[in-house]
Amino acid sequence: MSAEPKSAAALAQTAAPSEASRADDPEAPVRRALFQLLGVDGVYARSALYQDVLHRLDELLTRECDPRAEVLRFPPVMSRAQLERSGYLKSFPNLLGCVCALHGSEAQIRAAADAHESGGDWTGSLAASDLVLSPAACYPLYPLAAARGPLPEDGWIFDVAADCFRHEPSRSLDRLQSFRMREFVRIGSPEAIQTFRDQWMARARALAQELGLPCQIDVASDPFFGRVGQVMAVSQRQQSLKFELLVPYRGGATPTACMSFNYHRDHFGLAWDLRDTRGEAAHTGCVAFGMDRIVVALFCIHGLDPLRWPTSTKLALGL
Ligand code: AMP
Ligand code: ZN
Repeated sequence: MSAEPKSAAALAQTAAPSEASRADDPEAPVRRALFQLLGVDGVYARSALYQDVLHRLDELLTRECDPRAEVLRFPPVMSRAQLERSGYLKSFPNLLGCVCALHGSEAQIRAAADAHESGGDWTGSLAASDLVLSPAACYPLYPLAAARGPLPEDGWIFDVAADCFRHEPSRSLDRLQSFRMREFVRIGSPEAIQTFRDQWMARARALAQELGLPCQIDVASDPFFGRVGQVMAVSQRQQSLKFELLVPYRGGATPTACMSFNYHRDHFGLAWDLRDTRGEAAHTGCVAFGMDRIVVALFCIHGLDPLRWPTSTKLALGL
């Protein structure tokens, strides 16, 4: 049973109500109990109880992770030049958030800020900085790995995480603009990536079962931008490069992608000149866990009190 039953119960009692809920909204109880509005759709403060479950899920994934994996935790921002070189603007320009700042002399910056104080617009004076908001946890990894030189014989495994941003405002709790992503990333031969991904798809299904989450794994595609993007999505599906673990938050609901299993082939190897000992471009793949989506699924499916969740779920999370 419970490693820390008291603290979980205490946290459940202190869950603060949120002002964000509509009577016809099936997510309303979860929203009210665990989320508080911060003035923009898809950006929320989460309660201590929510954070506790997220932390336990993180620990569960750490127990599942290959012990050889090197752990790296990234900040929510990354180099704009690196994301550009990764090809992100070709595929998802609509989702990207760029950090902008006021540049120039003291007088120029003062004038821009004063424009706001006098009721005008100051944002026209903003210019892009060297940073973008990371859209996925694995992007900063490939240039970092490439800088180490050729891969060792059996490649690398990493355990990475970051707060991610995607510009897709929504009121739905399964589509946030700012959300947490944990990823296990494999860099190596095509065979190594396939094996890694196959093993993780099986393991992820078992994990979802332990957590009491109904799920299915399906071939999927990324939401590539525009008409050219549709062609890219078809090709991605045809090559089975992406799978998702889908969980319906309630009976009859459209299932939500809570994890993805991605094979990038040599895309990042070529972009970063990431090579194996024979000089071939390395292949890469990643397993991404949408931490917020999994935690919301747990509360939607099992209810607001983790101490009343199914025994196997509590065991898996150490509740
Ligand atoms: P992707 O790189 O699109 O496969 O995303 C990896 C995982 O992040 C997905 O399987 C989701 O669980 C999660 N995710 C993606 N977009 C969002 C979002 N807007 N809000 C919350 N979680 C997300
Ligand atoms: Zn990734």
